[in-house]
Amino acid sequence: MRGLLPLALGVLLTAVLILLFTEGSRPARVAPANASGAPSGSTGGASGAGVYSLPTGGRDPLAPPDSRPAMVPTLLPTAGAAFTAAAPGQRPYVPVVMYHYVRTVDAGVDPLGYNLSVTPEQFSAQLNWLHAAGYETVRMTTLAACLRGEGACPARAVALTFDDGYLDAYTTVMPILQQYGFTATFYIVNSFVGQPEYMNWDEIRALQQAGMEIGAHSLTHLDLTSLDLDMLRTEVAQSGALIAAELGVPVVSFCYPAGRFNDTVVAVTGEAGYTSATTTIPDGPQDNPLTLPRLRISGSVDVEGLRWMVQAYLP
Ligand SMILES: [Zn+2]
Repeated sequence: MRGLLPLALGVLLTAVLILLFTEGSRPARVAPANASGAPSGSTGGASGAGVYSLPTGGRDPLAPPDSRPAMVPTLLPTAGAAFTAAAPGQRPYVPVVMYHYVRTVDAGVDPLGYNLSVTPEQFSAQLNWLHAAGYETVRMTTLAACLRGEGACPARAVALTFDDGYLDAYTTVMPILQQYGFTATFYIVNSFVGQPEYMNWDEIRALQQAGMEIGAHSLTHLDLTSLDLDMLRTEVAQSGALIAAELGVPVVSFCYPAGRFNDTVVAVTGEAGYTSATTTIPDGPQDNPLTLPRLRISGSVDVEGLRWMVQAYLP
């Protein structure tokens, strides 16, 4: 009998160790965004999505040489790409949120800069709320595919966008996004790249390799409605083509500088192969992927402000 005691203790110890090991081998997720077993690549078959028409038109003879990689719906890196799909046939609204800077600005010293900025603390708090409230994030390419009825639509997601390519996108925004497993779309102005306070190509590439989408925001950030047709086409098409050449991935998402667009600008954007374009229209339907409204997050918008805006569309 006495010989059985060590054996029994051994068995008990082994059992405890197995339990501990099993527990410990589960991913320890402090901020488990997108970890809910989201069915990546599942087919939602959003059938009721064809409520808009893309501008049509063949290959533009004035368009620049086709240096851009083929416009196939190539999936971007999969990190953070998964989202919980809506039921087949359903297309819930996906609020598109617009940020510029994430930095601390004294409103008294620089009111315009303050208006375009949220503090890192404010930004963290906003993402924390989105995450806690069960929202996921999608890149604009994903949203556009959903609007076209291709691929699954997210059940409960927002698209975060950042305009102009400021350096804090790399230094501040990306690390905070990654804490929550979130993705975003960053719109780059070619002529700003590498300027003081703006990202250079290495930093933009790092964003893209971290699973973020890089979109185009024109060559020089001019008011596109003020340009003649040739210049308009160059500003729109070359912007994406040059970014695509730098990054080696298709660039299919566009953002109108200062939110300025008209019918011609929209048509040229569609001809250039972009699948979505964002405006600064504060609210409205998502029935045209080339004039998507966005919720502007200015310096005075706190967590409650974001919550109010997002939940107006997606409670
Ligand atoms: Zn801009």
